[in-house]
Amino acid sequence: MTDTDCLFCKIVAGEIPADVVASTDRALAFRDIDPKAPVHVLVVPREHHRDVAALAASDPQLLADVVALGQQVASDLDEGEFRLIFNTGARSGQSVFHTHGHVLAGTRLGWTPA
Ligand code: C5P
Repeated sequence: MTDTDCLFCKIVAGEIPADVVASTDRALAFRDIDPKAPVHVLVVPREHHRDVAALAASDPQLLADVVALGQQVASDLDEGEFRLIFNTGARSGQSVFHTHGHVLAGTRLGWTPA
């Protein structure tokens, strides 16, 4: 299940380069090109799902796999405590419509969702 126009499907396929930090057979983790924290990694399912709500509805185990990969990345790159954000819909700030969790870690995070 891929979308030929989807940026993250192209990263998953290796057609666009990314700084991959971890992967499983079902999910991929790569550094955000515009980091907002010392650790800012995106965790994505290899399959195309437009947002986290769609993924949760169609394959909750895959969502659990994506979250587990986020935990692994936070442990490998920092101390295992992390924030995981899934922007869902354009109004929330979602700009790439392939489910992705932002794993933020590496510092004490403030709460500034503006
Ligand atoms: O939640 P949102 O859809 O806005 O997040 C998309 C993220 O993808 C942005 O943080 C952006 O920096 C990142 N990105 C990336 N590599 C690209 C294009 C976008 O890491 N080639």
